[in-house]
Amino acid sequence: MNKFVYTPGPTIVRENVRLAMAKYATNPDLDYEFYDFYKNTCKKIGSIINTKNPVYILGGEGILGLEAACASLTEEGDRVLVIDNGIFGRGFDDFVKMYKGEVVYFSQAYDEPIDIKYLKAFLEKDSNFKYATIVHCDTPTGVLNDLSQICPLLKEYNILTVVDSVSGMVGEEIRVDDWKIDIVLGGSQKAISSPAGLTVVTLSEDAVNTIKQRKEPVTGFYCNLGIWENYYEKKCFPYTMPINDILALDRAIDNVLDEKIENVLNRHKKIAIATRNAIKEYGLELYLKEGYSNTVTSVKIPKNIGALNLKDHILNKYNVLLATSLGEYEDKILRIGHMGENAKLEYIIYVLNVIENGLSDLGFKGNGKLVELFNKYYF
Ligand SMILES: *Cc1c(COP(=O)(O)O)cnc(C)c1O
Repeated sequence: MNKFVYTPGPTIVRENVRLAMAKYATNPDLDYEFYDFYKNTCKKIGSIINTKNPVYILGGEGILGLEAACASLTEEGDRVLVIDNGIFGRGFDDFVKMYKGEVVYFSQAYDEPIDIKYLKAFLEKDSNFKYATIVHCDTPTGVLNDLSQICPLLKEYNILTVVDSVSGMVGEEIRVDDWKIDIVLGGSQKAISSPAGLTVVTLSEDAVNTIKQRKEPVTGFYCNLGIWENYYEKKCFPYTMPINDILALDRAIDNVLDEKIENVLNRHKKIAIATRNAIKEYGLELYLKEGYSNTVTSVKIPKNIGALNLKDHILNKYNVLLATSLGEYEDKILRIGHMGENAKLEYIIYVLNVIENGLSDLGFKGNGKLVELFNKYYF
């Protein structure tokens, strides 16, 4: 216990958010005031992601949203385009197959964002898809896909879009309505910086109608996004809401609104740019060639040190828990998760200092001091 945790989700949870959890307890089904509270939190989230579409908060962390979107849209034999330039991007295929959809991949290298020209060329040949899945920021590598180009293009072909913005939302701009996104998924524990446990989802009119027009009912209850309609008018949640998690989420959203979303996005951008420049000048390599998300930076760790070894050493000696990556990148990449509450000077400066000490203990000689390089680019 008492270790300092600095990972690309779950992120640091501010004290006022932790205290908000304990504010009160009620019966969320019978206490009608809670319906207003819930609806108001949803409305505030909608204002941050620029949508007039309904927003819902589901009781289950990010993955629930990914599965629910696929469960609700997919019918047997539906062709689904899985846009794959990262581990989460490809990972959507499991959910599509689980609900008996037919997966077609649009794959690209994992060290760069989706190139709209190739996607265009692909769609000119084959565009018969019910929906497409795309990840906003693919967290294991930190690649950021340009939703402002991808989603309107898919819409031209009448392909619905399911966007996983679990690690993008609040750290990167999303304009749901302008970019014609049908379903956007967010998680409480990433840039929103509230405790793990909730999914945020928004549904366009096209998405709602597609779910209504299904031939067969959705398999399962918990993952059926159709069950949320009119919960407010009927004063009936599909299941008992985890109100203390929602109290925390509401406070975390207010923190964003108090700071103003433009300032929050700008804070992420400044810290991310300074981090990337400092890492490069220090003599380490970034994993990505381009398309850097401002929420996480993936740093290649030299083979003779190893990302896992560095992570363990830093935890043992400095009591700081950092994250490496997933899958084949687990021992290759160290991730600096400067998202949400983590994207603050008091934390990033400390973490860069610890990373430098850890690397130096293990024999790496950088050019200068990492924190000084960061400061040079930040100020
Ligand atoms: C974190 C995350 C999720 C949710 O998965 P976890 O089980 O909480 O790790 C989904 N998509 C992306 C891109 C994420 O970063």
